[in-house]
Amino acid sequence: MKIFVVNSGSSSLKYQLLDMDSGVVMTTGLVERIGDAMGKVSQKSWPGTEREAEVEREVAFPDHRAAMHTVVELVTGADTGVIASSAEIDAIGHRVVQGGETLFKSTLIDDDVVEKIRENCHLSPLHNPANLVGIEVARELFAGVPQVAVFDTEFHQTMPAEAFMYPIPYELYEELKIRRYGFHGTSHRYVAQQAAAMLGKAEDDVNLVTLHLGNGCSMAAVRGGKCIDTSMGLTPLAGVMMGTRSGDIDPAILPFLMKEKGLSMDEVDSILNKQSGLKGICGMNDMRDIHAAAEKGDKKAALAVDMFVYRIKKYIGAYYAVTGPLDALVFTAGIGENDEIVRARVCANLEHLGISIDPARNAGRKKVATAVQADGSKVAILVIPTNEELAIAKATLSVLK
Ligand code: AMP
Repeated sequence: MKIFVVNSGSSSLKYQLLDMDSGVVMTTGLVERIGDAMGKVSQKSWPGTEREAEVEREVAFPDHRAAMHTVVELVTGADTGVIASSAEIDAIGHRVVQGGETLFKSTLIDDDVVEKIRENCHLSPLHNPANLVGIEVARELFAGVPQVAVFDTEFHQTMPAEAFMYPIPYELYEELKIRRYGFHGTSHRYVAQQAAAMLGKAEDDVNLVTLHLGNGCSMAAVRGGKCIDTSMGLTPLAGVMMGTRSGDIDPAILPFLMKEKGLSMDEVDSILNKQSGLKGICGMNDMRDIHAAAEKGDKKAALAVDMFVYRIKKYIGAYYAVTGPLDALVFTAGIGENDEIVRARVCANLEHLGISIDPARNAGRKKVATAVQADGSKVAILVIPTNEELAIAKATLSVLK
């Protein structure tokens, strides 16, 4: 069974071809700068498959259709690909960011599902339209191949109303579906399942706090294997501090800024999404650069790390209060997997909560799932590399079954 996973962004298209029988990733690729004067496609066929090849090409991609055409050519090309024709693809799994309240489970795509994804575009105007383009082009190019939509919001659908409702007039929820949806769900679910396996427990028997810390950051409270709360909200702007996004702030800052600086709503939105977070405090959003600057005495860089860590700690406390006895903290994504400083500082001084990290086990980047808690720590501390493509492929497979 070969599954092709598509993650279509506004100007990019990420893809993977996975052989689900052997568990091998056959091909992984990325098209960048779709719509620009010049774009780029890079593809790697994974070692272990019959033919191995690496391709990198500068090509202009006027739109997603052109990008997908090139991807099909590369994946099936005699010199570049690992399959002879697209007929070898059994199913396609699409990442869709926002399922809203109408699409709460991975689902086989038909015209009705496409329409519902379109209807949810207003809830995720940056992502859903781009996801839709990927779906529409793939349905055209792979006519007859079953296609499945897997939603970022899916894992969070188990949140109770007390967690997903906002304390604003109820009619706004009824009319506009304003509520907490949460994102990165595929990643949170994947690491929660991996954590259960590492702990030797059933998936529905683990209490966890999962920390997806990448350029975008979110946390989830997991009780009995189900998500009961998450830090992102109606949009991916809420929650902990991120690379360029503010996370939680006093909502009254928005009208205050508009009034005091004469800014438009779009300008304020752009400040909070693109010029805030780590970047807003110290001018940089890559944690590696920030650590390096802080080490050289850059006070703003040090403050940015202090704030980043402090805000995560507060969420751990909040979620610990609602998960019940905690089995593990689970770190994942770019910072979670690779940054021993952030992991150590997040876990520091939490011994009173039964959380104690081992400096030697925590040291270094983690390419494989690793337990880093100290002996005697009541709560396990796990670093688990996320694999959203594999999770999408597995979800696709289970829908087809
Ligand atoms: P992601 O969005 O999951 O791809 O994560 C991207 C972020 O991970 C980057 O912006 C960096 O801040 C961070 N990152 C990646 N590698 C490292 C590393 N070795 N040390 C610290 N942070 C890292």
